[in-house]
Amino acid sequence: MAQDVLDEVEIRQLLIDHVGHRCCWGSRPARTWKITSIEDCNVYVGTLETFIEERDTVTNKEPYDGGKIDGSDKGPVLAVWELDLRSEFPLLFVPEKEVMVKIPHSEVIEKCLDCESRGEIPCPICNAGQEHGFYKANQMTRCSACHGRGLLAHQDGSDTVCGMCSGKGMLPCIACGSRGLVTCKTCSGYGSLLAKSTAHVRWKTLSARKVSATRGAASVPDEVFHRAQGIQLCNIQAYQCTPAFFADSYQLNQFSSEVVASRLPVPPSARVISERHIISVVPVIRVTMAHRKQCFSFYVVGYNRDVFIRDYPSKFCWGLCCCFEWLRN
Ligand SMILES: [Zn+2]
Ligand SMILES: [Zn+2]
Ligand SMILES: [Zn+2]
Repeated sequence: MAQDVLDEVEIRQLLIDHVGHRCCWGSRPARTWKITSIEDCNVYVGTLETFIEERDTVTNKEPYDGGKIDGSDKGPVLAVWELDLRSEFPLLFVPEKEVMVKIPHSEVIEKCLDCESRGEIPCPICNAGQEHGFYKANQMTRCSACHGRGLLAHQDGSDTVCGMCSGKGMLPCIACGSRGLVTCKTCSGYGSLLAKSTAHVRWKTLSARKVSATRGAASVPDEVFHRAQGIQLCNIQAYQCTPAFFADSYQLNQFSSEVVASRLPVPPSARVISERHIISVVPVIRVTMAHRKQCFSFYVVGYNRDVFIRDYPSKFCWGLCCCFEWLRN
């Protein structure tokens, strides 16, 4: 493997580059400490991706003002899973795609239940709580400016006609002008609604991931290995994947079984389109450097040679940057 040819000079240079990108890490340990050991601790990374499609129907209603509709007299109404969506279909195993597609011939005219198709409802101010069809028109409220007198009294004893109610002492309802009815908001007064059905379709890849790290690399977070470049040992695509078989490795067979068994649950409104099971080996070396009685280790991960280091001995930050590990030490 490419990693095997890394010599001490190259390894030290990878560390120096890595440290150089940290503003507050001193380069002295990287440059001067002695490399005391280089160990191989390769890691297996396994994924099981389940590519699913979910469909459900969303119905929207809007006021129907007459006019032509695309109803069931124009053709058959297909169930949501019968729709041909080949033109929308994404590439297999894309992370996510979502479309809304109108279901042909699904338009239906419905009665407005809020107003019982009347287009109007009893006024919520002057006929609050009244049944449909039973409402009182000409309900007036007493004028608050003249307290119902129709006249305004002045300090010199004279009266003038109340301007608010024009001397009537009563005011009509502000919501309906005392008609007793207001326009139904649900149907905008048309009395009918147009119901339209839309298919809501989502494609999604569910990913179950596992890392089989040897003891030497156990302290490295799994994410580091999932990001790393490795070599694929198997890549199986099937409607439902079964564990891979490696004739020469009981351990890999076991690992493959564990990965496949960690399959994520498929929601009831979804169907599986395809699965893909991949196992890769990621080359990892663990390097230990020492100086007098101090030592530290770091990892070189994958063919992209990412350096992972948790406890570099020379971090000089004073709470002004993001190296919180230093504060904990
Ligand atoms: Zn209505
Ligand atoms: Zn009213
Ligand atoms: Zn008045």
